Amino acid sequence: MEKEKFLKRMFQEYYKNQFKKLDMSLKIDQREFGFLLWDNLSFQRHKSFKNFKELTQNLLKSGPKHVYFSGAYYEIPEALKMNQKFWIGCDFIADIDADHLPSKCKWEHDSFKCKNCGFSAKGPPPKTCKCGNTTFDQNTWVCDTCLELAKNETLKIFENFLIPDLNVDPNDIKIKFSGHRGYHIKIQSKEFLNLSQDARRELVDYLTGIGIDFKVLGLYEGRKKIVYGPNLDEKGWRGRITNYAFKFIEQLTYENMKLFKTLSTPLKKKIIEKKPSILENLTKIPSNWNIVPGISLSHWQEILNLAIKKYSPKLDIPVSIDVHRLIRLDNSLHGKTGLKADPIPIKKFKDYDPLKDAIVFKGKIELIMKKCPEFRFGDTLYGPYSEGKKEALSLAAGIYALCKNMASLPKN
Ligand SMILES: [Zn+2]
Ligand SMILES: [Zn+2]
Repeated sequence: MEKEKFLKRMFQEYYKNQFKKLDMSLKIDQREFGFLLWDNLSFQRHKSFKNFKELTQNLLKSGPKHVYFSGAYYEIPEALKMNQKFWIGCDFIADIDADHLPSKCKWEHDSFKCKNCGFSAKGPPPKTCKCGNTTFDQNTWVCDTCLELAKNETLKIFENFLIPDLNVDPNDIKIKFSGHRGYHIKIQSKEFLNLSQDARRELVDYLTGIGIDFKVLGLYEGRKKIVYGPNLDEKGWRGRITNYAFKFIEQLTYENMKLFKTLSTPLKKKIIEKKPSILENLTKIPSNWNIVPGISLSHWQEILNLAIKKYSPKLDIPVSIDVHRLIRLDNSLHGKTGLKADPIPIKKFKDYDPLKDAIVFKGKIELIMKKCPEFRFGDTLYGPYSEGKKEALSLAAGIYALCKNMASLPKN
């Protein structure tokens, strides 16, 4: 318990001295708040605060492990039942987390242990353990590769979809580091406020390309098996898939024709031979997708499926659809890292470095380390550490190691 007490005290100090005033546009008086505390395992929700001062007073008193607030606005956010809160509207939220991304490093630095039978292994936990149990203790690690993957997915959403396709004003797009392994995008705008769950699902389907119908996008087989397709300069998915198809053909070599493996050798050779004219035809308006006998509608569909896979952002879908969901509060501390859930101006996003920019604690600390891999914090590399040795770390890195259960406080 000593460790939790120490972390609580550090978090309290942050809320006392460094917690920055929240943006007025957040309208905190209309939000429902939820907390997880260091010394109480049950989740506390249905809380509300009249203003920033009241919220801050609560935070510096409790120094919570995690603080959440609703994406929704309510007339009575503290009401205990959803239908008594009087829902006003909800921001549109996209949650991108390395937990949902296919990073290979997760199989190296993450591990889990079944809460029932104790079976443990590296990587993310399975849905169901061999013993039938579905709950696990998880050890997740924050690494640059995971963070970079999450960043790229986040960029995809606002650069490829929200701004060009949906015409969202960049000023209405709020991006935030989650404090752990991902980012949140929030659209705070009237146009999105009153969307129903169904409308949000449709929007998510559009972003992720779920259930996309290539015929609707303009790819189809007409009379005499002639294939028609969309043009390169069209907006949205139409242009995106056509550009992908163009690049796909451009990079095609005779050795690299996996997709066309069922074709005869002369046909394959012909495709390569005709590459320049295939590409030229794709740039025409209307474009001509029916160039070489052998490339059929189903080939094009396979190529376009690759385009969907490449361009669709991998987001945590239920978060975007649920209009009552709580998400981490801006500028609050994450209890798994001690890092700040940091709002990032859209122009600074590309250069944002969470393991530097979201650090709040300054100073040094000595800890008894557990066996732990090397990690970066700020400009410093720490570890790898061996079991039981006393080490000096920056306070921020030390708090991270404590939060990750990779260290303990020296006894004295
Ligand atoms: Zn088990
Ligand atoms: Zn990683």
